[in-house]
Amino acid sequence: YDLSYHDVRSSMRETVTLLETQAILHSIMIETDFGPDPLWVYGVENQVKQVFINVIKNAIEAMIDGGAIRVRMRRVDDTVQIRISDEGPGIGETQLSKMGQPFYTTKDKGTGLGLMVSYKIVDNHQGNIQVDSQLGSGTTFEITFPFRYPETNSVK
Ligand code: ADP
Ligand code: MG
Repeated sequence: YDLSYHDVRSSMRETVTLLETQAILHSIMIETDFGPDPLWVYGVENQVKQVFINVIKNAIEAMIDGGAIRVRMRRVDDTVQIRISDEGPGIGETQLSKMGQPFYTTKDKGTGLGLMVSYKIVDNHQGNIQVDSQLGSGTTFEITFPFRYPETNSVK
């Protein structure tokens, strides 16, 4: 594997660039707020980026009437906290409990693998992923990774 210390702001910037055209075609704005400081994470950069792609793609696919997706990233103590909010229809409780199970999808051409893979990647990076959603009021994914300063492998 290709392990490195990387600033996840770059991975997120690349993800947003990648998905922006698709978003604009659906009348969706992606708003970003990354803060001024590097957000160092230790791990496989492409996998971490894949998590961002999966979650933001789901947000785009959920927002059939357009709107805004907000991406906020900050260092919080010894973690990097990433919040991705959408203005989609939200997720009911029954559905919420099935999300991340392999092949669970509500889409005609969905695979139901995106979240399962994402949960696995986050777990492999000693991170955490949580969903906060209610029917009718949008969805927020909160992903955290340990903050790992490159030279010392410490949190300072
Ligand atoms: P797929 O996108 O192929 O359906 P995923 O694993 O990415 O598979 O997502 C599984 C299911 O979780 C989706 O089909 C959808 O029902 C639900 N879901 C995921 N993200 C969102 C979201 N932001 N808003 C509403 N539903 C979502
Ligand atoms: Mg998906």
